[in-house]
Amino acid sequence: MCANLVWPPLCPVTGEPVSAPGELSPQAWSEVRFLDAPWCASCGRPFDYPIGKGALCGACAAHPDPPCSMTRAAFVYDEASRKLVLMLKHAGRTDGLSVFGRWMARAGAEALAGADALIPIPLHPHRLRKRRFNQSFLLARALSRNTGLPVAPHILERTRATPSQGGLSAKARQRNVAGAFHVREKQKPFLAGRRFVLVDDVHTTGATLQACARVLKRGGAEDVTAITLARVVKAVDPLK
Ligand SMILES: [Zn+2]
Repeated sequence: MCANLVWPPLCPVTGEPVSAPGELSPQAWSEVRFLDAPWCASCGRPFDYPIGKGALCGACAAHPDPPCSMTRAAFVYDEASRKLVLMLKHAGRTDGLSVFGRWMARAGAEALAGADALIPIPLHPHRLRKRRFNQSFLLARALSRNTGLPVAPHILERTRATPSQGGLSAKARQRNVAGAFHVREKQKPFLAGRRFVLVDDVHTTGATLQACARVLKRGGAEDVTAITLARVVKAVDPLK
C-alpha cells in the first residue's frame, strides 16, 4: 500500500497505469520478446524454427564444452526491454523483482535442474559502494524465492575493477574480465561436486559468465550454468 503511494503502479515499459507493481501493460507484453525454445542447447540463442533437441548454434558448435555449460535468459535485450533492466540497475526500483524472478525461473528451468545454489555475479567493492546494491544479487534472491535454491553471494569475488564493457568487442570483453574473478579462499572447500547457477542482469557476449564459470570449475565445481534477465541477440549473417 505504502509502496503504491510512492510508486504508483505504472508499466515500466510504456508508463501506462497497471493494477499491480511490476506488471506489464498489454502493449508492453507485445513489445518485450520473451525467450523460449527452440534455442541453442548451450547458449540459449533463439532459433527461428526447431532444429532438434540438443542442437547448437554456430558459435557454440565452433567452441564446444565452455566452462558455463548452459545459459538461459528471460527476454531479448532490445529497445523495449532495456527499460526493464535500467529500472532495476540505475533507478534501483525493486517493484519488478517478483515478476523477474518468475520469468527467470520459467526460462531457466533446464539450467536450474539439479542445482545446489545460485551465485550472483559480484560487483567490485568500489562499484558496490557507489551503487549501494548489486542488481545481480537482487535477481538471485528473486529467483531463489521461486526455486527454493539458496543464494551464495560470498563464493566469488571481483578482485579487479574492470572498465565498463559497453562498446567492447567480444575479444576485448574476454580480455577485460580475464583474471577479474576469484573464488574466496575460505569457500574453496565447498565447491567440489557442487552444481551452481550464475545469475546476472544482461548476457551480452557471455565473457563475464564464462570467466566466473571458469574459476568455479577450476575450484572443483561439477557444473556451472547461468540465468540472466535479458540477453543480447545479434543477427547472424546467413552467408557467413
Ligand atoms: Zn549457442
